Amino acid sequence: AATAAFGARRVLLASPRSFCAGVERAIEVVERLLEKNGPPVYVRKQIVHNTHVVRQLEQRGAVFVEDVEDVPEGVTVVFSAHGVSPAVREAATARGLDVVDATCPLVTKVHAEARRFAQRGDTVVFIGHAGHEETEGTLGEAPDRMVLVQDAADVATLEVADPRRVSYLTQTTLAVDEAEAVVDALRAKFPALRGPRSEDICYATTNRQDALRAVVEESDVVLVVGSDNSSNSRRLAELARRGGTPAHLVDDAAQIAWTWLAGASTVGLTAGASAPSALVEEVVAALSGLGPVEVEERRVTSEDIRFAPPRKVVAP
Ligand code: SF4
Repeated sequence: AATAAFGARRVLLASPRSFCAGVERAIEVVERLLEKNGPPVYVRKQIVHNTHVVRQLEQRGAVFVEDVEDVPEGVTVVFSAHGVSPAVREAATARGLDVVDATCPLVTKVHAEARRFAQRGDTVVFIGHAGHEETEGTLGEAPDRMVLVQDAADVATLEVADPRRVSYLTQTTLAVDEAEAVVDALRAKFPALRGPRSEDICYATTNRQDALRAVVEESDVVLVVGSDNSSNSRRLAELARRGGTPAHLVDDAAQIAWTWLAGASTVGLTAGASAPSALVEEVVAALSGLGPVEVEERRVTSEDIRFAPPRKVVAP
């Protein structure tokens, strides 16, 4: 009788959602090493920002550590999808570690741009979130020449050595519209501003935001499957809220407070790039347990990007 109060409900599944190519590759690296070398497989930081992925790999023998100093000397260490600074690479070498790099190639591209822009003498403004591993890794490419800005307010107070020599880069998982506003503010302040050849916000981030935008207006509430420390997942929930729709970031179906759904006849559902699609299916199943559910998928584009795993884990 309690569930009858919820009535029939429509679920709008935003598509694309869940795993991106960089996350799939990073998980594959750890899985292949577990098969090849057996446990333990040491990984610096969470391989991707998802509690379920991390827990499942831990159960199979992966060991996640905060620092290369926590890895026994001379063994293999995996660098996570978010990338590392040159200082971390040096520390790993000094420890005699065998590095397998699971950094997403789209993050590596931004690192290369950071080096290039810094080498030509620019102040490189990195638009990103303080404390995020990707931010720390990218800033580490040229710590003396790079500055972090998080929003337009930071731009207002920004001072640089030479206003004619400023370029910008962005974290791969920002909200596209928010990043544009910061770039506009930078360009207004530094008309000679130069940027990357192609957008740093990655295809997966952009597609998941576009897909959610296509369902958010029709939704009474939005559920985003993803972990709290997942940047792109957080941006999805914020995007929905900016559009005026209540949104909740949940690790899995168990975290849904059913009061969120009271009176919501249409639920928008998506998942961040680090969240397994099985968790989305579990949410749909849980919603079905409350009453009749009609699932409609809204696809804005298809993704067929795949990144080959590093040679080290493929070779026999
Ligand atoms: Fe790579 Fe984008 Fe996925 Fe991050 S979200 S791992 S940059 S594809």
